[in-house]
Amino acid sequence: MAAKIIDGKSISKKVKEEIKSEVQKLREKGVVPKLTVILVGDDPASQVYVRNKEKSASQVGIISETIRLPESTKESELLELVKRLNDDPEVDGILVQLPLPEHISKDSVIETISPDKDADGFHPYNLGRLLAGIPSVIPCTPNGIMRMIDEIGFELKGKNAVVVGRSVIVGKPVAQLLLARHATVTICHSRTKNLEFYTKNADVLVVAVGKPEIISGSHIKDGAVVIDVGINRRDDGKLVGDVHFESAKEVASWITPVPGGVGPMTVAMLLYNTVYLAKLHHGIDS
Ligand code: NDP
Repeated sequence: MAAKIIDGKSISKKVKEEIKSEVQKLREKGVVPKLTVILVGDDPASQVYVRNKEKSASQVGIISETIRLPESTKESELLELVKRLNDDPEVDGILVQLPLPEHISKDSVIETISPDKDADGFHPYNLGRLLAGIPSVIPCTPNGIMRMIDEIGFELKGKNAVVVGRSVIVGKPVAQLLLARHATVTICHSRTKNLEFYTKNADVLVVAVGKPEIISGSHIKDGAVVIDVGINRRDDGKLVGDVHFESAKEVASWITPVPGGVGPMTVAMLLYNTVYLAKLHHGIDS
């Protein structure tokens, strides 16, 4: 039986409608959420992501400003800019688009963003709060994945969840969120032996590796929910996920496509975080 598609485009549209009405309420109170994005260099994929973020922000009534800096920008100059934005009362959320040029330390930049303006939720303070189960700003892709799982009405309690990939931006935080919802969580990575042993046992399988189609139908348990985070350009130019969609959809009960799955949710959750931070900033309860 072919799996049902978890349509990230339509779920993200719904999330954006919710955010738009939140922003409207905030505007009535005189608060207009503002997101400032810093883009260093001219990585083509980053240019596309930033344009998508600008467009989506304006659709929901969030002010978005993009500061474009040359590739040659010194780390000290970037840190100075982040500190100025930290002190700017007009700015609710700051996002520094990754990847950064090699001469700039991503960790130093993330740690310089004030945790209460951390739109991506990557600051160690916010990740620590996530680990401790204290409400905090949550990284966008993991939060978007949880929203997708909720939208299909899947109950996580007591289920086996397997996350392939352990990055700080996707794998680790999504594992934490699944754990908080009482799934039994296994995290796999490049040194995992016999990956299939784990993936075959997953009721929910989240794959965030960055390798085209490394998971196929034979790795997947019958009826599993499959969330494919990967975005890869194949040699023939086609955009594909980390999961081989055609074979996986014959085994899974639900599956996210690439494109049109997790990607649009990530942008929607960035807007969600900006509104969350604006409320925090202005002392407005949810
Ligand atoms: P990273 O490169 O930071 O992490 C990849 C992870 O995959 C690592 O933990 C690595 O293990 C693991 N891994 C690598 N090879 C294997 C393997 N053969 N078997 C099992 N695990 C393996 O990637 P990200 O988490 O940043 O991104 C992953 C993918 O998701 C990329 O394609 C990226 O473009 C995409 N992405 C998509 C987003 C969206 O909005 N849709 C948002 C963010 C990312 P180890 O730790 O041992 O090296």
